[in-house]
Amino acid sequence: MQVTIVGGGIAGLSCALSLHQIGIECRVYEAVPHLAPLGHGINLQPNAVRELTALGLGETLAAAGILTQELAFFNKHGQQIWTEPRGKGAGYRWPQISISRGKLHEILLGAIGERLGARAVVPGHRLTSFEERSGKVIARFADPAGNPVGEAEGDILIGADGIHSSVRQQFYKGEKAVFDGYLHYRGIVEAEPYLTGASMVVVGHRHHRAIIYPVTKLPGGKVMTNWLAYTKIPPGSPPLEAWDTAADKQACVDQFKGWSFPWLDVHALFAATPQVLQLPNVDRDPIPRWSFGRVTLIGDAAHPMQPVGAQAGSQAVVDGRVLAASLMAVADPAAALTRYQDQRIAAMNDMIIRNRNLGLESILQTAEERAPDGFRRINDVLSQEELESTAFNFKKAAGFDIETVNSRDSFVEMPAQAG
Ligand SMILES: Cc1cc2nc3c(=O)[nH]c(=O)nc-3n(C[C@H](O)[C@H](O)[C@H](O)COP(=O)(O)OP(=O)(O)OC[C@H]3O[C@@H](n4cnc5c(N)ncnc54)[C@H](O)[C@@H]3O)c2cc1C
Repeated sequence: MQVTIVGGGIAGLSCALSLHQIGIECRVYEAVPHLAPLGHGINLQPNAVRELTALGLGETLAAAGILTQELAFFNKHGQQIWTEPRGKGAGYRWPQISISRGKLHEILLGAIGERLGARAVVPGHRLTSFEERSGKVIARFADPAGNPVGEAEGDILIGADGIHSSVRQQFYKGEKAVFDGYLHYRGIVEAEPYLTGASMVVVGHRHHRAIIYPVTKLPGGKVMTNWLAYTKIPPGSPPLEAWDTAADKQACVDQFKGWSFPWLDVHALFAATPQVLQLPNVDRDPIPRWSFGRVTLIGDAAHPMQPVGAQAGSQAVVDGRVLAASLMAVADPAAALTRYQDQRIAAMNDMIIRNRNLGLESILQTAEERAPDGFRRINDVLSQEELESTAFNFKKAAGFDIETVNSRDSFVEMPAQAG
């Protein structure tokens, strides 16, 4: 079997490694002419680390990132609303890893080079169209200038081409990204460690929020610290299709004046950041199908979601694993793609909606509504039961509660590994 993967991001590359692991040949076609290590911070939850460990990458990823110890929520006054241990300290058998997206991409690409060979990833090939014909899928590509650059024939085509997926567009013509009126600012900066030294913090509420976590240890004890800040979109905002464009740094920093807390000076962290980028907060509505005959969608192409609860990268990895497991379990390609879809789509569509409602971060908004001026004790504002059930329900729905992750086998159990 030969598989065509469209898109060399986190979903496409990790899927290629999973297919290779089970003996299926594949090739990844990527639009950009040079694959560079791009992006700021991303999180790999234990359910994804479990799968990447089964691919032999666990130690490399752990060494390249930060093993997240804690997730903590604070109101805009810097008062702690909730904290929970993360990763092995929480009882998982695998860690949570906060890592530079560029580094993660580089590690996946390096593993592909070693295992599948340098020709397994074909850059400068943007998918323009595809069709299924006589049990094959023919994909057509253009180079960065828009000129036709050839075709690829595969038994299956996997659309791993991200939030603005061309593969998805062919099934859902005219579908638009959904913009919620908020802008993200994004930055990464060398800084002193705060709290545990490996704490992910979310501060504020729905309309004004910051997510901060370290992604790399630096020599001398400092850490590269990744942050995202949300605000209502100002005039002159970037086009919806843009990922990262340069932002007016001062406009961003000014909005976080006063966010100087004993445990972290958020305002100073933002002010010290060399370059601030911006992107609109977009996702897409859930769709009823991902698999159409011999074509399917994975990662952001299937379920682009708002960046709440640090899910997109992890779910992209899991998609590829479940897809590989389905191809092992079912001989007929179309039936295997349907099996994959049926195992994943309901939970991911649910996650899109949960994230629009702030997912586990909804307790920040509840605390803001009930106590905008702060509180003496958090349990005067939110009961322990509300706090605990919000945190647990999100993890359960996302498939990374401790019991689920620890008790299941890897999605792809190789015969030699079984038992
Ligand atoms: C440049 C970049 C930087 C990012 N930075 C961050 C970050 O800092 N933090 C974070 O949490 N998330 C970031 N993301 C998003 C994050 O990687 C995804 O949300 C998540 O990992 C799911 O991965 P994915 O592979 O589905 O999508 P993506 O990682 O977005 O990968 C999709 C890939 O498909 C390619 N592609 C698109 N259209 C075509 C086409 N027609 N033909 C061929 N290839 C195509 C894209 O160039 C891209 O490489 C970034 C994405 C990109 C593309």
